[in-house]
Amino acid sequence: MSAPDAPQILGVPIEQLRGRLARDGIEPYRADQIAAWLYARGVWEFERMSDLSSELRARLARSWRSRALELASVERSGDGTVKGLLRATDGARVEAVLIPEDDRTTLCLSTQVGCPLRCSFCATGSLGFTRNLSSAEIVDQVCRMRSLLEGGRSLTNVVFMGMGEPLLNLKAVLDAIRILMHPKGFGFAGRRITVSSVGVVPKFGELLEQARVNLAVSLHATTDALRDELVPINRRFPLAVLFDTLRGLEVVTPRWPVFFEYTLIGGVNDGPEDAARLVRLLRRLPSKLNLIPMNPHPGSPYRAPAPAQVERFLARVSGRGFPVTLRRSRGADIAAACGQLVAGGAQGRRERRAGVGSR
Ligand code: SF4
Repeated sequence: MSAPDAPQILGVPIEQLRGRLARDGIEPYRADQIAAWLYARGVWEFERMSDLSSELRARLARSWRSRALELASVERSGDGTVKGLLRATDGARVEAVLIPEDDRTTLCLSTQVGCPLRCSFCATGSLGFTRNLSSAEIVDQVCRMRSLLEGGRSLTNVVFMGMGEPLLNLKAVLDAIRILMHPKGFGFAGRRITVSSVGVVPKFGELLEQARVNLAVSLHATTDALRDELVPINRRFPLAVLFDTLRGLEVVTPRWPVFFEYTLIGGVNDGPEDAARLVRLLRRLPSKLNLIPMNPHPGSPYRAPAPAQVERFLARVSGRGFPVTLRRSRGADIAAACGQLVAGGAQGRRERRAGVGSR
């Protein structure tokens, strides 16, 4: 049994783990065996790692912890979406969401407890910020949520779009991505991983230099006046700076376009002028556009767009030189849809009824 203050083995990149084991006099290749148990097979108890000697298993169990989160509750939506509420050892709570669709299953991960950026349409932002998640806590969301898959499904995609702004916790996110992509870890291709940011512009280059994954930018507005209101970090990094930076990234190519997320908010950003400005912005670099009709909630000043307005907006931005998708809302009945994560289970639902925002 490890001491409560023993270091976490989860979330340590495998190359680093080799070095740390070597310093303890353990053969470095044992790191690959341990990682295969933890990530590929989902076995976290050292005593079950049967290709390690009993002496080594006992030593590892004394020296390391291998769990970071407990699954506090699980809610399953009528459309197959699964939301997990996960509790850390200090009591902090975050949510992760599994989204099964046809032949793919996407896991949406959280990176912070709460969020400091306070986007005005976001439930998480209304909670304020508690702390960053560790790489162990990010990786353990994958282990825990994967165990909830049913019907022979396996995880195909991972998106960092849950609670928090990933680029404000970049070191832990990069360590987690290294494990997600490592052949002895989860073995995901970089194209299957998407990191979503509202615009922490100085970190874009660092992310894409360190990890060849998809970058998604939550845009939501085409003028600085509106974006300042919806996404306050725009006051520090306005649209011109955002797009100049993206255009300057050599790694952004037609094969690796930037994904833009645009939440359609009824009467706010869903008009013909918005669509025309959006087309002008996105045509200037390799882009993909994902339209997301707003998921409304009690207490929010914003409302969902009318279905006909969504269709008109879609028609105005389609066929303009970049692919466009319209995201169907998933998991809205369990508050797992985009922008609804508040990590509270019953408490969260009470907060929402009392008007504590939504994304
Ligand atoms: S939208 Fe993202 S960055 Fe903005 S407050 Fe919500 S979690 Fe934070």
